Amino acid sequence: MTVDPSKLRIEIYPTEVLRTKADEVEVNDETRAVAARMVDLMRGAEGIGLAAPQVGLTWRLFVAHVPAQDDDPIDADIPSTTDEPQAFFNPEIVETSGDLEPFDEGCLSLPGITGEVRRPATVTMRALDLEGNQVEVRATGLLARCWQHEIDHLDGVLILDKMSQMSKLKHRSRIKAMERAGKR
Ligand SMILES: [Zn+2]
Repeated sequence: MTVDPSKLRIEIYPTEVLRTKADEVEVNDETRAVAARMVDLMRGAEGIGLAAPQVGLTWRLFVAHVPAQDDDPIDADIPSTTDEPQAFFNPEIVETSGDLEPFDEGCLSLPGITGEVRRPATVTMRALDLEGNQVEVRATGLLARCWQHEIDHLDGVLILDKMSQMSKLKHRSRIKAMERAGKR
């Protein structure tokens, strides 16, 4: 193994790896072990998603877990939550539908910052699962948003690039302070 999963930590903006386009990966014992570690880190940070660049790896891999809330619709045809943590390798959005919906998003690599981001309500994603099988899965609501946010990370895209001007303005000084701290 070239990566020691126990050494992985959540990377904070503006570290370079968050702006790097990630490469496709194989599903094997090494990448599976990293995915498991990422689930632990995501849980520890109380997040709903975590992408490999956020732990310093330029791999096209993310994990997500969007637990059901009491006020979710019970009989939705398309899932908006997950029972268990999920891991997806080499994911791509193959179809989107629904209006662009605004929602305040946060990011574990941007502590203290949330911003209104508009995204399609429903998506279809193609990816490899933990067994290396190709799957095509649909999601709506918060789960669809989470997948899109994580796939953005694989292309070096952050909510800073997509958030409304109002949100950017609101967090302007904090973002600048993080950028200054990162240069030290
Ligand atoms: Zn994020």
